[in-house]
Amino acid sequence: MVIALAVGGTQIKGVAMAADGSLLYSGHRRTQADRGPDAVLETVLDYAGELSRHYWASAAGIAMPGLVGEATGTSVFAAQLGWRQVPVRRWLAEELEMPVAFGHEVRAGGLAEARLGAGRSCRSFLFVAVGNGVTASMVVDGRPTSDAGGFAGELGHLVIRPGGDPCSCGGAGCLETVASTAAIARRYRLATGEENLTAKEVRSRAGTGDPIAAGIWREAIEALADGLSSAISLVGPERIVVGGALAKAGRSYFDPLPAELSKRLAFREAPRIVPSGLGQQAAVLGAALLAQQLHLARQTAPRPRRWTSLSSGPGRPAAR
Ligand SMILES: [Zn+2]
Repeated sequence: MVIALAVGGTQIKGVAMAADGSLLYSGHRRTQADRGPDAVLETVLDYAGELSRHYWASAAGIAMPGLVGEATGTSVFAAQLGWRQVPVRRWLAEELEMPVAFGHEVRAGGLAEARLGAGRSCRSFLFVAVGNGVTASMVVDGRPTSDAGGFAGELGHLVIRPGGDPCSCGGAGCLETVASTAAIARRYRLATGEENLTAKEVRSRAGTGDPIAAGIWREAIEALADGLSSAISLVGPERIVVGGALAKAGRSYFDPLPAELSKRLAFREAPRIVPSGLGQQAAVLGAALLAQQLHLARQTAPRPRRWTSLSSGPGRPAAR
């Protein structure tokens, strides 16, 4: 049995997964990031502790947003949580007294889609998560590719509108400034003066004849097609799996996107675009799979020798 968490700006998702992959628990706690980074960390540790005790877990996994140091298990920078240089894996391992697997949410999500979701039976696919940000992971032979510094997959910061709106990364005209849920809501607010409308509501209005909403929605799809066509040209995936909050937009998203992509990929056929099979659960299920992998690796690792030299060790063969 393993337990896993995925920490997001709105929710901390949790699961308990049995060895056969079945889920014994799936739930969440509210992040309430406005309480400050320490309070969020405390909620993460408490939630993981409760799950591990209740389900007798032997390993845990955690998926984080933002910039991560996957080798060191560190949350380098998570803007939504206010975390900087938090050694998540070490602190969680100390709290739970068990091995902890750590990964970026989009690579964990890609792993889960490969094993359990829309990437099954597909040798290579690009998993794209479109929500408040836009991130991507390339999955080859069931394994998300990683990089040296934990910065891979920041598709949202590809500049697709040079000189465009300022971005949270310090640049301008990034994909995220046009295609993320936050950007869609912000751009509609700026165009109409209407406050507190979500991207989902902008989409609904686009479908009922609101020309401003329809324009902003179309621009978001076009921007995503610009970003994806660059990624496709570079890595050549067989399939695009779209997850994150906007994957739920259904036909209004998935109908226009292939045509927009085809327009941009003159030299090759556009890969098939499919919605995520796991939706918002992809990252936490991926964290559970990472925990399973860690547990299995520890079980199959060679046991340390019980003696260090032949002259002093027990069971030494008799001299002939
Ligand atoms: Zn940016």
